Amino acid sequence: MLKQINQAISRAYMPVSLKYFSLVAYIILIITGLAAYSTDAAFLKQLRNTNLGNLIVWSYWWPAIIIFAIFFGRIWCMICPVEIITTFFAKIGLKRKRPAWLLSGWAITVFYLLILFVGIQGFAIHRNPFFMAVYLLVIVGVSIIVGSIYEKNTFCRYVCPVGYLLGMYSKLSFLGWRVKNTRTCESCKDKSCIHKNYRYNLNSKSCGVDLYPATINDNANCILCGGCRKTCGKYQSERNEERPNPQLTYIGFANDLFQINPLKLAEMVFVLVVSGFVISEIWSEWDVTNNFLTYIPNHIKSILNIENSFIGGFVYATFIFGFLPLLLWVIPFAISKIAGATITLKKYFLTYGIAFIPIIAAAHVDKSILKTTSRLPYFEYLFNDVSGVSTAQQIMDGKIVLHNNPLWINIMVSGLLTLFMIAGVWISIRVVKTINSKNSQALSNRALYLIPIIYGSLFLVMILVWRWM
Ligand code: SF4
Ligand code: SF4
Repeated sequence: MLKQINQAISRAYMPVSLKYFSLVAYIILIITGLAAYSTDAAFLKQLRNTNLGNLIVWSYWWPAIIIFAIFFGRIWCMICPVEIITTFFAKIGLKRKRPAWLLSGWAITVFYLLILFVGIQGFAIHRNPFFMAVYLLVIVGVSIIVGSIYEKNTFCRYVCPVGYLLGMYSKLSFLGWRVKNTRTCESCKDKSCIHKNYRYNLNSKSCGVDLYPATINDNANCILCGGCRKTCGKYQSERNEERPNPQLTYIGFANDLFQINPLKLAEMVFVLVVSGFVISEIWSEWDVTNNFLTYIPNHIKSILNIENSFIGGFVYATFIFGFLPLLLWVIPFAISKIAGATITLKKYFLTYGIAFIPIIAAAHVDKSILKTTSRLPYFEYLFNDVSGVSTAQQIMDGKIVLHNNPLWINIMVSGLLTLFMIAGVWISIRVVKTINSKNSQALSNRALYLIPIIYGSLFLVMILVWRWM
């Protein structure tokens, strides 16, 4: 199977034709989103599920790319239309060298925070089709600006938070982009895969995200564009049967994760914020946990007499995406210190931060399962009214009554939620064990098993009580 996929990537029209196809789909989703403007909260509760753009983007496309990233790597990047847009503008743009702040990775973390604070909390881009469309346009706009100013593919490597998130999840992937034989690269005089002459080709291009295929040992940054494979095969001064050398390779589940490469500071902050985000994603599904989640932010809002929804959203986001995850990360560290560990806070955050990733991934898969299955009843009405405005109105007026999913789907969903979360916690325990085994202070570091115990319990206990009792 992998052989056929690699052969397909080598073809002249692949995967570039898929990007043009997804560009058309992207434009259609934006248009349908823009056609459904509303600020009525009650109406939006229905409209977000009846609008074609919003339903596909948040309930099917987003869950699909998360699940694909966890099992197969950054497959979405292979067909992402934004990559072709930013590459085109880089070809005709200024090609400036990237400044150090951009190379540091902080731009991605800041962009992600802006999406959470302004996009999700301020404009509800995940619930409002119009603002969802604006969000997609903003992503394209930023990719055009970045592409027009900086050299190579700066947007995909140093700005795009979606790619970064998928890169984080692809630490668990079975597959990775590697070369067949490093010796072939060592003796290669062409280095077509990184040659500057092919850097701005729209197809068969050398690597734009600063990777050298022969030294790739993790999935984080490769956007699976296939460019190096195509240039390696196409631009050869002497025919070599070993080429093309780069390819999609089976590397084993969670191989990247267990290499235990410490996170960079910007990366760690990104993971920390995502660890808070997934709590809000899962806990908001059940009224009981949602009340817990909103208790403190609501209290703060009432003490400070905040009525403005934008400022209220900011308070909620600060608590959920900042304070809460910080507290959860610090507790295991504090207890390990009491037990006598000498690890510094910085080292703990950068190294043991990796142990949160499998649980975050499991929570994201769980949210994906909940989203995709709970929206199935809307499909029946979707293509008769792609803007969803009339359908939403009919649901509100009681003229359309949605069917509930059959019992077997609900039981299957409960089973999958539980299984994925158990798997996430188990992998997290294995990660802590691997890190501890590299550390001589095994006894005091045992307290760090509290990472999977505390953080995993937040999800597992909730799922068990909510879905099974
Ligand atoms: S990937 Fe191909 S072009 Fe690049 S160094 Fe290896 S053999 Fe040469
Ligand atoms: S290493 Fe190859 S496949 Fe990966 S981003 Fe670079 S050119 Fe594309």
